[in-house]
Amino acid sequence: MPKEIQITYATKDGKLVFIDNVGNGLACGCKCTKCGESLVAKNKGKIKEHHFAHAIDSDCNGESLKHYMAKKEIEEWKVLNLPAPPPKHRPFGFSY
Ligand SMILES: [Zn+2]
Repeated sequence: MPKEIQITYATKDGKLVFIDNVGNGLACGCKCTKCGESLVAKNKGKIKEHHFAHAIDSDCNGESLKHYMAKKEIEEWKVLNLPAPPPKHRPFGFSY
Protein backbone atom coordinates (compact mmCIF):
# COMPACT_ATOMS: atom_id res chain seq x y z
CA MET A 1 0.00 0.00 0.00
CA PRO A 2 1.45 3.39 -0.93
CA LYS A 3 2.49 5.69 1.88
CA GLU A 4 -0.06 8.38 2.58
CA ILE A 5 1.04 11.82 1.41
CA GLN A 6 1.72 14.18 4.29
CA ILE A 7 0.40 17.64 3.56
CA THR A 8 3.37 19.96 4.05
CA TYR A 9 2.29 22.91 1.92
CA ALA A 10 -0.88 24.99 2.09
CA THR A 11 -2.13 28.38 1.05
CA LYS A 12 -2.44 31.36 3.36
CA ASP A 13 -3.89 34.62 2.07
CA GLY A 14 -3.53 33.20 -1.43
CA LYS A 15 0.18 32.42 -1.07
CA LEU A 16 1.87 29.05 -0.82
CA VAL A 17 3.35 28.39 2.65
CA PHE A 18 5.45 25.57 4.13
CA ILE A 19 4.42 23.85 7.35
CA ASP A 20 7.42 25.14 9.33
CA ASN A 21 6.77 28.75 8.35
CA VAL A 22 3.34 29.16 9.94
CA GLY A 23 1.95 29.21 13.46
CA ASN A 24 0.77 26.00 15.12
CA GLY A 25 -2.80 24.72 15.12
CA LEU A 26 -5.90 26.18 13.49
CA ALA A 27 -4.52 29.68 14.18
CA CYS A 28 -2.16 29.20 11.21
CA GLY A 29 -5.06 30.33 9.00
CA CYS A 30 -4.04 27.92 6.22
CA LYS A 31 -6.21 26.31 3.55
CA CYS A 32 -5.81 23.04 1.67
CA THR A 33 -4.47 23.59 -1.87
CA LYS A 34 -6.73 20.81 -3.15
CA CYS A 35 -10.12 21.34 -1.51
CA GLY A 36 -9.78 24.81 0.03
CA GLU A 37 -10.88 23.71 3.52
CA SER A 38 -9.19 24.99 6.69
CA LEU A 39 -6.12 23.13 7.90
CA VAL A 40 -4.59 22.64 11.32
CA ALA A 41 -0.79 22.97 11.41
CA LYS A 42 0.95 20.24 13.39
CA ASN A 43 4.45 21.62 13.54
CA LYS A 44 5.47 21.59 17.17
CA GLY A 45 6.11 17.88 17.59
CA LYS A 46 9.54 16.32 17.64
CA ILE A 47 8.59 12.72 16.79
CA LYS A 48 6.18 12.89 13.84
CA GLU A 49 6.98 14.71 10.61
CA HIS A 50 5.45 18.19 10.65
CA HIS A 51 2.30 18.32 8.56
CA PHE A 52 -1.14 19.84 8.10
CA ALA A 53 -4.40 18.05 8.83
CA HIS A 54 -7.90 19.05 7.77
CA ALA A 55 -9.71 20.91 10.56
CA ILE A 56 -12.88 18.92 9.93
CA ASP A 57 -13.20 15.29 8.88
CA SER A 58 -12.50 15.09 5.17
CA ASP A 59 -11.99 12.51 2.47
CA CYS A 60 -9.41 14.86 0.94
CA ASN A 61 -5.82 13.81 1.48
CA GLY A 62 -4.27 16.90 -0.03
CA GLU A 63 -1.93 16.90 -2.96
CA SER A 64 1.81 16.87 -3.49
CA LEU A 65 3.73 20.06 -4.10
CA LYS A 66 4.51 18.77 -7.62
CA HIS A 67 0.81 18.39 -8.37
CA TYR A 68 0.03 21.86 -7.01
CA MET A 69 2.88 23.46 -8.99
CA ALA A 70 1.81 21.66 -12.18
CA LYS A 71 -1.75 22.98 -11.74
CA LYS A 72 -0.45 26.51 -11.20
CA GLU A 73 1.80 26.29 -14.25
CA ILE A 74 -1.12 25.18 -16.41
CA GLU A 75 -3.33 27.95 -14.97
CA GLU A 76 -0.74 30.66 -15.56
CA TRP A 77 0.95 29.57 -18.75
CA LYS A 78 -1.64 27.26 -20.29
CA VAL A 79 1.17 24.76 -20.89
CA LEU A 80 2.94 22.14 -18.81
CA ASN A 81 6.63 21.46 -19.31
CA LEU A 82 7.48 17.87 -18.60
CA PRO A 83 10.77 16.04 -18.93
CA ALA A 84 11.11 13.99 -22.12
CA PRO A 85 9.95 10.39 -21.71
CA PRO A 86 12.65 7.69 -21.74
CA PRO A 87 13.47 6.44 -25.28
CA LYS A 88 11.40 3.25 -25.14
CA HIS A 89 8.28 5.28 -24.22
CA ARG A 90 8.66 7.89 -26.94
CA PRO A 91 5.99 7.67 -29.62
CA PHE A 92 7.09 7.25 -33.22
CA GLY A 93 8.11 10.62 -34.61
CA PHE A 94 8.69 12.13 -31.15
CA SER A 95 10.97 15.15 -31.23
CA TYR A 96 11.94 17.93 -28.83
ZN1 LIG B 1 -8.14 19.14 1.25
